[in-house]
Amino acid sequence: MFDKILIANRGEIALRILRACKEMGIATVAVHSLVDRNLKHVRLADESVCIGPNPSPQSYLNVPALISAMEITDAVAVHPGYGFLAENADFAEQVQKSGFTFIGPDPDVIRLMGDKVSAIAAMKKAGVPTVPGSDGPLPDNSERCMEIGRSIGYPVIIKAAAGGGGRGMRVVEKEEELVNAIAVTKSEAQAAFGDGTVYMEKFLQNPRHVEIQVMADGQGNAIHLGDRDCSLQRRHQKVLEEAPAPGIPDKVREQVHESCVQACIDIGYRGAGTFEFLYENERFYFIEMNTRIQVEHPVTEMVTGVDLIKEQIRVCAGEKLSLKQEDIVINGHAFECRINAEDPQTFFPSPGKVNNFHMPGGLGVRVDSHLYSGYSVPPNYDSMIAKLITHAEDRETALARMRVALSELVVDGIKTNIPLQEELVRDENFAKGGVNIHYLEKKLGL
Ligand code: ADP
Repeated sequence: MFDKILIANRGEIALRILRACKEMGIATVAVHSLVDRNLKHVRLADESVCIGPNPSPQSYLNVPALISAMEITDAVAVHPGYGFLAENADFAEQVQKSGFTFIGPDPDVIRLMGDKVSAIAAMKKAGVPTVPGSDGPLPDNSERCMEIGRSIGYPVIIKAAAGGGGRGMRVVEKEEELVNAIAVTKSEAQAAFGDGTVYMEKFLQNPRHVEIQVMADGQGNAIHLGDRDCSLQRRHQKVLEEAPAPGIPDKVREQVHESCVQACIDIGYRGAGTFEFLYENERFYFIEMNTRIQVEHPVTEMVTGVDLIKEQIRVCAGEKLSLKQEDIVINGHAFECRINAEDPQTFFPSPGKVNNFHMPGGLGVRVDSHLYSGYSVPPNYDSMIAKLITHAEDRETALARMRVALSELVVDGIKTNIPLQEELVRDENFAKGGVNIHYLEKKLGL
C-alpha cells in the first residue's frame, strides 16, 4: 500500500480523501492556494504545501508545482478528486513519468474516454447501448451529412468530440438548419477545445439522467455498484441525486449494468468510474464515461456500504478488487442535496464568511463538508460548500429524512441554495420519482 498520498484538490472532496487515507494508515499531503491555507483538510493533513496564488491555473491546475510538491514531501501517489486535473490524461502521464502513481486509470484510457467519438466506438464494441448517431466524426461533405441526418431522424444534436461541461452542443430541428449548425459547432469546438471534430446523435426529447457506478482493478476484474438518478439539473449542473434510480425495470437495469462491467474489462479500466446514460422509454443510451470519482458518489456508498475512495486507492495501488459482484447488495435508498454558496433565486455566487455552521444529524444522515463556523468561502472556486446525504430503508423514508435534515441545517452569513432544496424535497412530482432532465429548469421558469 502507498505510504503517503498527495491530495491534489480542495474543499469537501479533499477532506473526504483525507479521511479515507487516515483510516487506511496512509500519510497525507494537502496542497493549497494562498487563500485556501485555512481549509479544514489542510489543517488536518500530516503535511501541507502552498502551490501558488488563488487562480486555479496557477495552483490546482499547476502541474509542475504539484509534481514538485510530491518530490519534496516524498508522496508516492496523487489523488486528483474530481474537477481540476482529475480527467487530464497529460497530467496522469506526467505523474507516471515522474515515478509516481496517479490514482485513476491509465492515461491512454482517460484519453480514449475523453474523446466522445472514440468512447462511443469502444462502448458499442462492448455491447453498451448508445444513442443512434453518425458512428464517428461527421464528414466535410454536406450531402453526406444530410443523408446521416435523414437516417437518424430529426431532431438531432451536433456534439463536439472533445466537448465537456455541457459546452459544444447544438440541437437541430430540421434539415434546413443542419449545414449551418455543423459549421458553427465545428468552429466553436475548434476555438474552445482545439479540436473541431463533431458528430451527430438523435436528440432525445425527455430523457432522465441515469448513471452506473463501476470499480475495476485493471487486472481483469470489474464490478458495478448499481445506478444513480441525477435528472434534477440546472444548466447541466446536478442539484439533487439519488440511488438507486427509481422505477427502472429489473431486466433493463441488469442488462445495462452487465454491459458496463464488460466495457471496463474490454478497455482495461482501473479505479472508480461512471457510465452516464440518458434513459427514455425504458431504454438506456450511453453519452459519456467519467474516469474519476464523482461528486454524487456518497449515495452509492450509502446503499452499498462500500467505501468507494478506499477501494479506488486499493486497486490503484495494484491490489486485486476485494469485492465480487455478489457482494454488492443494494440496501434501501439514498438522496444527496448539493449545498451551494449562491443566491437561491438568481444563482449568483455568494462567497463570504460563515458566521455559524450547524450540521444536521441522526440515523442515516451524512454531511460531507469542509465548512466550519468562521470559515470564509473564497470567490475563486466552485460554489459547492456541502453535500447533505440521507439514507433509509426505502425512498419515501429517505426523502422524509432529507426534509428533516435540511430543516436543521444552518449556514449563517452567506446566501445558500438551501431554500431551493427545501422546495425540491417537497415537490410532488419529484416525490413520485422519475422526473426528466428538463423538470427543474421548467419548474424554475427557465
Ligand atoms: P458534457 O460532457 O458536456 O457534459 P454530455 O455528452 O454528457 O456532455 O451531455 C450533456 C447533456 O446534454 C446531457 O446530460 C443532456 O442533458 C444533453 N444531451 C447530450 N446528448 C443528448 C442527446 N443525444 N439527446 C438529448 N440530450 C442530450
